[in-house]
Amino acid sequence: MPRQSPVLDLWASAPVAHARATLRARDADIVASQIEVSEIEAPTGDERRRGAWVAERFRAVGLRAVRIDDADNVIGRREGAAEVAPVVICAHLDTVFPPGTPVRVRRSGPRLVGPGIGDNGRGLAAMLALAEVIDGTRVRTHAPIDFVATVGEEGTGDLRGAKHLFDHAGDARAAIALDGAGDERIVHRALGSRRFRITFRGPGGHSWTAFGVPNAVHAAALAAAKLARLPRPATPRTTLSVGRIGGGIAVNAIPEEGWLEVDLRSTSVPVLDRYEREIHAAARAASDEENGRRARGTLPLIESITRIGMRPGGDTDAAHPLVAFAVDTTRLIGREPELATASTDANVPISRGIPAIAIGAGGRGGDAHTPAEWFDNTDGHTGLARALAIVIGAAGLATGPLAALPVA
Ligand SMILES: [Zn+2]
Repeated sequence: MPRQSPVLDLWASAPVAHARATLRARDADIVASQIEVSEIEAPTGDERRRGAWVAERFRAVGLRAVRIDDADNVIGRREGAAEVAPVVICAHLDTVFPPGTPVRVRRSGPRLVGPGIGDNGRGLAAMLALAEVIDGTRVRTHAPIDFVATVGEEGTGDLRGAKHLFDHAGDARAAIALDGAGDERIVHRALGSRRFRITFRGPGGHSWTAFGVPNAVHAAALAAAKLARLPRPATPRTTLSVGRIGGGIAVNAIPEEGWLEVDLRSTSVPVLDRYEREIHAAARAASDEENGRRARGTLPLIESITRIGMRPGGDTDAAHPLVAFAVDTTRLIGREPELATASTDANVPISRGIPAIAIGAGGRGGDAHTPAEWFDNTDGHTGLARALAIVIGAAGLATGPLAALPVA
């Protein structure tokens, strides 16, 4: 008899079959907890109330050493059979919606509609469901699993929670981020981004009587023009965009200050490094050019650059067993795997050499980051079973031939 694939072995094993059946039976409860968590406001930087709710659930399902760290991440552990580095499963707590956004979830036909219902109400509810079915007895893994609800994943959060977690946690054998709905995407390339604010400061003055002093807004505009003209590599896809520009106090005043904000993205760290140097060079060249025009005896412009955002990039090789296992599991449930690039909590472990991916947590969704965000739970439990199998594949099962399975 030909040997089955490891994915099939795992899928059909008694503990995983039991856990899959439980997920299926608890489908409606899982959606109910998804609604409940989505209705707790959690703007980036103010995730505490939602975090407290998750901590209580972690304790209720018997995770060990449940705690809230200095960044406000919520962490709980399910012990494995071996004392080895854990697999980290994370889901972000925060949403892009500012305080005061109505977060009530409503039904519209087969859909649930509400801000954050998928991103990341679904990821959080799925993480809790997995923490419950991987109970440490009937379903016992080889490696321990750390379940983590992270803060600061969206926008200006700059992956603050994941950075703090991987700065302070010990080593991890793998990390899997549950983010939003879906059961096809496997994010294994982490889109890195760096954001800068360039500021020019000069003497300023009256636009007629002081004319000849260097103009900080002219310098900002020159810098923007230089950045707009920079050639970019064909691969990897790299983007550089001036998102905001400003300065000055009045149309008839030479501004003392001019500034611009720049967003740079690529999956390649060397490319990000190179363009960061280009941004510094463009700022310096803009100062030089504007100072070259200044009247004798006036003060020069000075430029400064601050990093206002930094998301590390990189990738987990498509051939890595963690990615391959996720691909095979996705096929097993009858979906077409889609290897993808995105900026998620997985960026942080990936950038530190820990094999990591981000996956959807089942069901369908759309209009994320808008108040019309929706979630449709059709086949939702199948997506949960996929996530379960990928997580257990990374941690290994405690007993039987599958103990040798760990993919990470
Ligand atoms: Zn998300």
